[in-house]
Amino acid sequence: MAKKETKNKQATSKKTTLAMRFARLGIHRDDDLILHLPLRYEDYTKLTPLAQLQAGITVCSEGVVVHSEIQYRPRRQWVCVIEDGASILTLRFFTFYPSQQKALAPGKRIRVFGAVREGHYGLEIVHPKTMVVHENTELSERLTPVYPTTSGLTQEALTRHIHRALNNATLLYDLLPEDLRIQEQLWPWARTIRFLHQPPRLTGQELDALTERNHPTWRRIKFDELLAQQLSLKRYRKQRALRKATLLSGRGSLTSALLKKLSFTLTDAQQRVWREIENDLAQPVPMHRLLQGDVGSGKTVIAVLAALRAVEHGKQTVLMAPTEILAEQHYRKLSAWLADMPIQLVWLSGGMSGVTHRQALKAMADGTPLLAVGTHALFQRDVALPHLVLAIVDEQHRFGVAQRLALRDKKHKTKGNDDDEVHQLMMSATPIPRTLAMSFYADLDVSVIDQLPPGRTPVVTRLVNQQRREEIIAHVGKRCAEGAQTYWVCPLVEESEKLDLLAAHTLYEELRETFSGSNQYQDETFPQLTVGLLHGRMKSAEKTEIMEAFIRGEIQILVSTTVIEVGVDVANATTMVVEHAERFGLAQLHQLRGRVGRSERESQCILLFEVPLGETAKARLKAIYESNDGFAIAQEDLRIRGPGELLGARQSGTPLLRFADLDHDENILERASAVANQILGLPEGETIAEKIINRWLGDKVEFFKA
Ligand code: ADP
Ligand code: MG
Repeated sequence: MAKKETKNKQATSKKTTLAMRFARLGIHRDDDLILHLPLRYEDYTKLTPLAQLQAGITVCSEGVVVHSEIQYRPRRQWVCVIEDGASILTLRFFTFYPSQQKALAPGKRIRVFGAVREGHYGLEIVHPKTMVVHENTELSERLTPVYPTTSGLTQEALTRHIHRALNNATLLYDLLPEDLRIQEQLWPWARTIRFLHQPPRLTGQELDALTERNHPTWRRIKFDELLAQQLSLKRYRKQRALRKATLLSGRGSLTSALLKKLSFTLTDAQQRVWREIENDLAQPVPMHRLLQGDVGSGKTVIAVLAALRAVEHGKQTVLMAPTEILAEQHYRKLSAWLADMPIQLVWLSGGMSGVTHRQALKAMADGTPLLAVGTHALFQRDVALPHLVLAIVDEQHRFGVAQRLALRDKKHKTKGNDDDEVHQLMMSATPIPRTLAMSFYADLDVSVIDQLPPGRTPVVTRLVNQQRREEIIAHVGKRCAEGAQTYWVCPLVEESEKLDLLAAHTLYEELRETFSGSNQYQDETFPQLTVGLLHGRMKSAEKTEIMEAFIRGEIQILVSTTVIEVGVDVANATTMVVEHAERFGLAQLHQLRGRVGRSERESQCILLFEVPLGETAKARLKAIYESNDGFAIAQEDLRIRGPGELLGARQSGTPLLRFADLDHDENILERASAVANQILGLPEGETIAEKIINRWLGDKVEFFKA
């Protein structure tokens, strides 16, 4: 009895270990096993005679072991020689077990597989795959797949499990309606899956196509993966149209007051997007709109117009920004714009307490019509907003997918007077390349401000070797003496906020010594300037103080970490210096450059770099130098980094697309999008969609709805 129990326990724990290993590979169900596709294939279908071997090719050959010895020079290794009557081949192992040596003892006939190279004593294979055979052991009739695997799970075991799953006919059932499959000239599902796991002998182009993933089987796989994603998003969007939100029709009193009050008129592009948003808000269904516009295109004013529309209706709105500096800047700007209007503006940040804070919370909880501005503290705290009708998220790409999900849940939990959902306006300065917009944002409506306000002079970008720093310091000093202001962004130290801080401090001290005159070696050529320091670890009050001094022009050079990266808007700042620009990402550099060029005066962005430059860094600096167009830069960024990072999903570690590649598969994406619409138009469309989504996404569905 006791014995049986232990046995059971052992069996269960074995199963859990296996499950854990599978989980590491993202395999939770048999559906996932079927879609665990080979990385590449090995060809054991034919033997190459040893006399025909050449360095550089990968072969399968056979021979009898004629020699086996352990050598100690230059390091311990096992050398084994095989012979096939006409020629010989050396096999070399740097790690090996006695059992292996025993199995491949002289006299044994073995089949070997691996890449041939030129050794000191003729051709050899290092760490070949080996198999003991007999003279008439048959050759494989199919290519042998090599799967991505994890420690503790051998290729053989994984292959066995996959083969078991392949016997389950329901998993191979084609979920795509036959007429659509034929319309798209796609291979049948079962044939595709079987082919990829057990391909026949292939040669030449067909083998290359399979390896490079543009064989018809791969087209079917990528198509279905994208189809599942499209269906998931489109279905979500369709469901949204059936839900309810407060209708905010145009009343105009506050919005028109703001438009009158502004010192500028809206650009055509701003007017167009405002009409689109106005129109959405006037519908009784929740708006989910992404407002895109390059840095400096004027998104904030559009957000405020939308917020005022809600307040006109006696409702509440939140405007959320990713950093405190940005949230505070919004608050400051809005305070000025809305100064003598009958609207309550509320500020909420992480480190607040005291009377103002309590009053703010109370006003919100009382349902007072207001506009609340803040960081994600707006959602983390126990904030009640019973009349919340609109949530605006600035620089939404800075929030991770998970945070966006939390935002949505928070809204569900925010009890209103009724069950109406909240309208959402997301803003982003990172233009989303078309393919990304079509795929990951297919559930959103998109408005684009594709025009900058008039009177801006394009920023001049200069790439300067770090060795010429002294010259740049002198140059910046001169510009500042003439009344301009400068951001000086310190090097990004990969993954260490502490070191970033250290770098910022060092830079600050250096510039202060140069410009403040406290240095006894003060050179006459350096003007007297005030240098300030801003970084993320500072207390809110300190940050505010520094930022305000910079806005007032009391600080001429602001040394900072990347906390000023997004949104910061000080028109008089016309120089941006980035130290070690080669360490920054493309989107970041574009954002940083976007901090200047906000007035009619000429602005400069000086990117200091250190040689030698790596390939990626070179590509990034070239792209930023050659283009001022956020759209082109985002496209390039997508190419360099892949979609996960642009989407902010990096934290989650979930690869969003496994097989399709938005850089190359744009036409497949387009077809998948069209077919998704066709499917959802069918009477049984919902059911089909459900099955396809489940096959591909399982529990990852949530990520696409964020
Ligand atoms: P972003 O789109 O990067 O958030 P902002 O909303 O911060 O840009 O706008 C950048 C600057 O341009 C702000 O100072 C803003 O007041 C100003 N601005 C916005 N719209 C216009 C316009 N139509 N004409 C002139 N200036 C404008
Ligand atoms: Mg902005």
